[in-house]
Amino acid sequence: MAQNYDVIIVGGGPVGLFLGLTLALEDIRVLVIEQESDIPQSPRALMNFPIVLNEFAKVGILDQVVAAGFKNTAGLCFRTPYSGTNTVLAKIPPGKSSKGLIDYGVQLSQAKLCAIMRNRALQSKYFEIRYNTRYTSHHEDGDLVHVNSESASSGPLKLSASFIVACDGANSQVRDAMDIPFEGFTWKDWRFVAVNVYYDFAKHGYPAANHVIDPEDWAVIVRASSVEEGLWRIAMGISPDVKPEEVESYVVAKVERLMPGPRPLDYKIEAVSPYWAHEKVALKFRAGRVVLCGDAAHYATIRREDFVKRVQKQAIDGKNRIHSMDAKVVAERDDFFNMLNKSPGFGNFIASMMMEPLPEDLWPTPW
Ligand SMILES: Cc1cc2nc3c(=O)[nH]c(=O)nc-3n(C[C@H](O)[C@H](O)[C@H](O)COP(=O)(O)OP(=O)(O)OC[C@H]3O[C@@H](n4cnc5c(N)ncnc54)[C@H](O)[C@@H]3O)c2cc1C
Repeated sequence: MAQNYDVIIVGGGPVGLFLGLTLALEDIRVLVIEQESDIPQSPRALMNFPIVLNEFAKVGILDQVVAAGFKNTAGLCFRTPYSGTNTVLAKIPPGKSSKGLIDYGVQLSQAKLCAIMRNRALQSKYFEIRYNTRYTSHHEDGDLVHVNSESASSGPLKLSASFIVACDGANSQVRDAMDIPFEGFTWKDWRFVAVNVYYDFAKHGYPAANHVIDPEDWAVIVRASSVEEGLWRIAMGISPDVKPEEVESYVVAKVERLMPGPRPLDYKIEAVSPYWAHEKVALKFRAGRVVLCGDAAHYATIRREDFVKRVQKQAIDGKNRIHSMDAKVVAERDDFFNMLNKSPGFGNFIASMMMEPLPEDLWPTPW
């Protein structure tokens, strides 16, 4: 079988598209295969910190990302829910990058970000993407790796390349095919739900990024796109005991408790997307000519030990900080807010940490 591509990327999510764009700009012939018919539009990630914005600048899409989203130069606010005491607890001020690089965030939906990356990549003759094409298996043969896939329009399709990169998400079929364990756990105390809603939080004094601290009505409320579009995201938890038929009324009741302003409320929910959150990491990020990347691995961009000690720890601490009533967590949270309120230097330090670019020493060791 002839070698068709240098690299086949399985999965056209943000990681697969960013990698495809980066490789195509290096004149590496890349094919992305994606099982869906287009970029999924359901609400997913939307906060883009300098750590990724600096990388977007390198591939020439930063201006488009800033223009399409909301540029956050105002930092982050911690508060109690509107239905509770409706109090601002502390603020993290805007940050400055010690390296003079990007010092703002951009709030832009994952779907719009993916479209920008894909459209930029399609300008390169080295980039190709096939939708409706599902990876089913692969095998290696000398210097090549052969991929069996299923195309919705043309049936079974055989493709080959020098390397495969699995960017097929947390339920990676490529990772499963290689029997690579995906170690960790799934949060069972809360199911997460991402709600996109048209409502003018800014009119009621809410800045563009808010963490709402509460054992029940905890949430993250952030602007999801440009001011003109007026879309906001509420990310919150649903009790795992809530039955499927009760999810809608549970979500609506919680959304309304979180919304500031006089009643009756005038708002429109655009989309609701419940999901289970995992803290998992693949035990290997490479086997032969196959590399795992993004949610399929949580490994390829940083070493495993760094991930578990730094990134995963931050994610776990952040989740606990927003809702836990455990005495140790409450004491640490109170200390954190006291420090932010009393010491501007501490707030500036925390803010500056959020402004740092990707540390060079976090890249994996070359093989
Ligand atoms: C509802 C929801 C809300 C979220 N909210 C946030 C948030 O607020 N903040 C945050 O940081 N993160 C959030 N996330 C997580 C974030 O979306 C992921 O971390 C991110 O999408 C990972 O990117 P990825 O490209 O590695 O994988 P994915 O985005 O999962 O992309 C994988 C792609 O591979 C495709 N694929 C899978 N199997 C195959 C196959 N066999 N053949 C071909 N294609 C295949 C899939 O269709 C998909 O398009 C959320 C996730 C969900 C589900």
